[in-house]
Amino acid sequence: MNKYDVIVVGAGNGGLAAAANTSKAGLKTLLLEKHNIPGGCATSFKRGRFEFEPSLHELCGVGTKEKPDDIYKIFDSVGAEIDWRYEHTMYRTIVKGEGGYDCVMQAGREAFYDSMELAVPGCREKVKTFIELNDKCDAALDYVEKKNGNPNPLVMVFKHADFMRCASHSVEEVLNALEMPEKAKTILTTYWGYLGVPTDELNCLHFLSMLTSYMDNGAAMPYMRSHELSLALCDIIYKNGGEIRYNSEVTEFIYNEDGTVAGVVAGGEKLYAKEIISNVIADNVFARSKGVALPERDVKLANAREFGISVATIYLGLDATAEEIGIKDYTVFVANDANPRLQNDNRMEGGFYIVNCLNQVIPDASPKGTSMMFFTMPVYGSDVPKDLKPQDYKKYKNDLAEKYIRDYEKVMGINIIDHIEEIAIATPVTFARYLGTPEGTIYGYRTSGWDNVVMRSTAQVKDNGIKNLSFVGGHGIMGDGYSCAYMTGEATAKKVIKRLKGGK
Ligand SMILES: Cc1cc2nc3c(=O)[nH]c(=O)nc-3n(C[C@H](O)[C@H](O)[C@H](O)COP(=O)(O)OP(=O)(O)OC[C@H]3O[C@@H](n4cnc5c(N)ncnc54)[C@H](O)[C@@H]3O)c2cc1C
Repeated sequence: MNKYDVIVVGAGNGGLAAAANTSKAGLKTLLLEKHNIPGGCATSFKRGRFEFEPSLHELCGVGTKEKPDDIYKIFDSVGAEIDWRYEHTMYRTIVKGEGGYDCVMQAGREAFYDSMELAVPGCREKVKTFIELNDKCDAALDYVEKKNGNPNPLVMVFKHADFMRCASHSVEEVLNALEMPEKAKTILTTYWGYLGVPTDELNCLHFLSMLTSYMDNGAAMPYMRSHELSLALCDIIYKNGGEIRYNSEVTEFIYNEDGTVAGVVAGGEKLYAKEIISNVIADNVFARSKGVALPERDVKLANAREFGISVATIYLGLDATAEEIGIKDYTVFVANDANPRLQNDNRMEGGFYIVNCLNQVIPDASPKGTSMMFFTMPVYGSDVPKDLKPQDYKKYKNDLAEKYIRDYEKVMGINIIDHIEEIAIATPVTFARYLGTPEGTIYGYRTSGWDNVVMRSTAQVKDNGIKNLSFVGGHGIMGDGYSCAYMTGEATAKKVIKRLKGGK
């Protein structure tokens, strides 16, 4: 007999959203998490008198109480209240050296077009055409959904021609087709790093949907770090009779003789459920599936996929205010070269990094008279030297941190090092250990080529051939990021609820 209706494995954003929804729907839900706290990436940690945000720079798709977007609605629909704070400057982007630039992009469509026109006179109309492609693609997707995935091809060709023209193309290809000036192209695509795939590989629709989301709503963050989001969802799970077990790593997935999943093993205990929702990446689920013939297609799919990007990060607690130090911005992108491909390829030479100062959005994020900074360098797990010895790891991290901090001091003409009161440095090794992901990927599978999000959505019917097992999170069909993890969590929970309870 099944003890639970649903077991959710992993209390990251996707797992929490799923468990909050299934418990709210009255399903007997158990959430299993290997750590002693929830959240995965969405958490916080303390060093001295500072409480750091470990991951969230900016959350897209939130909106406000008056004008809620997807993420606001997800939290609202389960009854979770969040103290959202907003930032309406999208980013400052600095490219060093000759031919470089230093521009600030504002949120809001007209304000964004104005920022682009200021940076590259004459580009406004082309930028507008590019951005409005997003709305046309949204209309096409709404039509496809209304037709339950079986649209009339003639309607698609004649009414949604722009969608048909750009849905399978990269950002670079679409911008070239629009004859976007080179400088406008690189300023416009600064956010590529948030998806971890350079613009000559990144699907245009995927990028546009993220960019316009930040543009239309601004960026949001919770007042008490992303830990606030995770705790709010835990609260909902408890309020609805759900159970959460911490320090409960799932070491094995249990299967019935017909290959359907029956339960899991956590802490040596066998636990059974009608449905299992995994916030754990498929590779790790399959590695924990012993003595079962997994569907060939699923194993091939997992093996064929590339892992997404990881990061190296530096968290700084400073003994002076942002104003005293001379920090004026919330998000700054710094690059050696304007070209995203070169930024990506030269990432280990300090080619590209992002710096945040949370106090710019939440002034009291750190104690009075102090401030915090957060450096992020997109790198792959495979970028960590293979011959790095454990005894040399600390030096490797310290050298890395010093290189980036000194570079930023030079770029901004400020002194940071003399103000460091607390410092924590993470690398892909840290994320591999904490999240348990292969190569420390923070973005699941790389969304590029045949595995981009448009292809994934088209093939989602066949995404997983193991009955009663669903996947949620940054490794899901929508790709990485907080918003996508929450959205897959909610959408998957709804499908599971429908299967178990019937109805719409
Ligand atoms: C430094 C950094 C900066 C980022 N910045 C942003 C940003 O600004 N905006 C944005 O949208 N996204 C950002 N992201 C990405 C975002 O955090 C992730 O895409 C998203 O949180 C992934 O959520 P997830 O649901 O896949 O869960 P994860 O966070 O991967 O959590 C998975 C959970 O499963 C648990 N688990 C793993 N294995 C087991 C097991 N066997 N048994 C039980 N539990 C297990 C883990 O402990 C973890 O709690 C950033 C990530 C990082 C690391």
